[in-house]
Parts: sequence; structure tokens; C-alpha cells
Amino acid sequence: MTMNKRYLGNMRSKEVHDQLNEKPQCQLWEIQQRVYFSSIGAAKLAGYDPCGHCLPGSRR
Ligand SMILES: [Zn+2]
Repeated sequence: MTMNKRYLGNMRSKEVHDQLNEKPQCQLWEIQQRVYFSSIGAAKLAGYDPCGHCLPGSRR
């Protein structure tokens, strides 16, 4: 994995995960439609909400 693919977004749920802090609850293997971000800021700008399991400070 390269650093510019650190953050994995689920295009259906509009939720983004930190792959370097992946938790079982993230269920990344179930994500069908994927998009990658190099930073959490970029993901937020694209309208994605941080995952509550792998991204501290999330509102979810
Ligand atoms: Zn997550």
C-alpha cells in the first residue's frame, strides 16, 4: 500500500477509513465501491464522514 492510498472511502455509505488503523468493525472487505484519498482532509472535502472505529474524533 502506498501512502496516497491510506484512506479508503466507501462510495455507497460516504464513509472513509484509515487503513493504517483498520479495525474489524470497519469491515473493509465488504466495501464494493472504493475510492482512495491521500489525506482525511481530502476525504472530508469530497463529502466523506470519518469512520468511528478507525478515525478518532469522528462524529459517527
Ligand atoms: Zn473504519
